[in-house]
Amino acid sequence: MKNIYIIGVGLIGGSLALDIKKNKPEVVIHGISRKETTLDEALSLKLIDKKATLDDINKADLVIISIPVDATVKLLPTVLDKISDSGLVVDAGSTKKDICKIVEAHPKRRNFLAMHPIAGTEHSGPSAAISGLFEGKTNIVCEVEKTAFKLQEKALKLFVDIGMRIRYMNPEAHDKHIAYMSHLSHISSFMLGKTVIEKEKNERDIFDMAGSGFASTVRLAKSSPEMWTPIFEQNKENVIETLKEYINNLNQFKDLMEKDDFEAVYNEMKNTNHIKQILNGIA
Ligand code: NAP
Repeated sequence: MKNIYIIGVGLIGGSLALDIKKNKPEVVIHGISRKETTLDEALSLKLIDKKATLDDINKADLVIISIPVDATVKLLPTVLDKISDSGLVVDAGSTKKDICKIVEAHPKRRNFLAMHPIAGTEHSGPSAAISGLFEGKTNIVCEVEKTAFKLQEKALKLFVDIGMRIRYMNPEAHDKHIAYMSHLSHISSFMLGKTVIEKEKNERDIFDMAGSGFASTVRLAKSSPEMWTPIFEQNKENVIETLKEYINNLNQFKDLMEKDDFEAVYNEMKNTNHIKQILNGIA
């Protein structure tokens, strides 16, 4: 995989570029983006070696699409039309069902691999790219059996070489599970931020009283709405399901407090402390 084209050189595309380049210095990374200024920034940050356009895709050994998921659904069939028979297209989108569906009958389906690297931060754009982002992280791969064996083998080796472990899942299961593990966390962080902003009109007070607990819980509320709105739209049913369960839990907690049942409040928190063991297990 000598010529790698990255469409969308923001946090994920830019970080993949850095890690691939560190691991395989002989690779030439070509950047493609909507805005020329974004490519200029990616060049000056040394995320990419060269600027390119969609017309160059036929020269690619690997194309990584890392743009918002609504844009991915629109662009992916065109990119697959352009890829050579020996080239592979992968996407890094945070949803998988709609993305896999849009290419299910594409004549070059075997030249596509659907994946979701479970790594990120709340920052976006080329300047958010960081080296080592994927070390020890999971890369969820969907419908691997629909990708030509030789192509999936090369791509998976590339991602393992930059430190990722691979997990296989079908797109429906991916979208359902990720709604709990990632999408709900973002909404709860956004709405926590909103609640505090609305109440504390004097922002200086928020700033003075923001301890590390508040800062870490509200961190995800700094994330890009341009990236997250299409994720919630594509995963609407699963996200609404998680929201119902979460709101139910919030209401129950409020009811216990209104009833002065602080033994039950204590037990709710004690039982939830089990999250510590779960997270240690994941680590
Ligand atoms: P990002 O930092 O905002 O970068 C996305 C890039 O895509 C931008 O630099 C932008 O370039 C381009 N872009 C934005 N809107 C576009 C559109 N409508 N059409 C074409 N290009 C567009 O985003 P990211 O965090 O890297 O996310 C990229 C993908 O990775 C998304 O599919 C996301 O779901 C997925 N992902 C994100 C995370 C995370 O934690 N952030 C984790 C795993 C996977 P221009 O400036 O040229 O428009």
